[in-house]
Amino acid sequence: MTNRYNLPSGFVNLCNAPRTPMPHRYSVTELLKPRWMVNLMRANPRLLDGDVSDQVLMILGTAVHKVLEEHTSEGFAERKIERVVGEDTLVGVIDLYNPDTYTIEDYKVTTTRHTGTDEWRLQGLMYAWLLRPEYVDRLRFHAILRDWTYHHDGPAVWTWEYKVMADDMAYIEAYIKTWLSNTEPCTPSERWNDGDTWWLYKDGNVRATHQCASDTVAPKGYHVVYRVGVDKRCERWCPVASVCKAKRERL
Ligand code: SF4
Repeated sequence: MTNRYNLPSGFVNLCNAPRTPMPHRYSVTELLKPRWMVNLMRANPRLLDGDVSDQVLMILGTAVHKVLEEHTSEGFAERKIERVVGEDTLVGVIDLYNPDTYTIEDYKVTTTRHTGTDEWRLQGLMYAWLLRPEYVDRLRFHAILRDWTYHHDGPAVWTWEYKVMADDMAYIEAYIKTWLSNTEPCTPSERWNDGDTWWLYKDGNVRATHQCASDTVAPKGYHVVYRVGVDKRCERWCPVASVCKAKRERL
């Protein structure tokens, strides 16, 4: 990891803390990413290195968790749980579990545009599954909004709640087992593929008249252009794209 702006040792040591993944031992946050991508991240740790200054979000998140842990007076804060699944082990650190209210609480440092409740539900249910046989009735995710001052119409901490349903444990167990046994490359939805499209063009025009259905028959003087969907994650957001064989084979 580089230190382009000569930041003090606190930044450097925090960013360089050893995080060597152990074989067959996976974290809940890894299970939120595609399995194929996690395998490549584990095999190519150097690709995840950047500059210390780029790690500001990780530093903010770590600081918030530490301060809130120190000042929490109910339940169990930063509780680490692991559970064996076949030959693998799933590990999670729960920000707070309150056994009086049967609630898992989680903190996120994020922005108003990145309050991803689908991912939070998966994460919270994996924690609930790890906690079993303890009962979990509710998940509560608290988003500490970095851009709150630009959006004065809401609170600075936005809380999302989910009531755990009767069949959620079977659902999340299937999700965990499927993820752990998966050997396939990322699916279109994991690649954030925006889908194939067809566009109607007037002959000679460079701009499409409008988007159309795949079976559109172009009227006289028009033609239909097919555009293949873009894998947005592969293009811009995947740290291991440069070594991904599946991506190369699709080109
Ligand atoms: S480049 Fe695309 S297919 Fe390859 S690991 Fe990244 S997201 Fe998955």
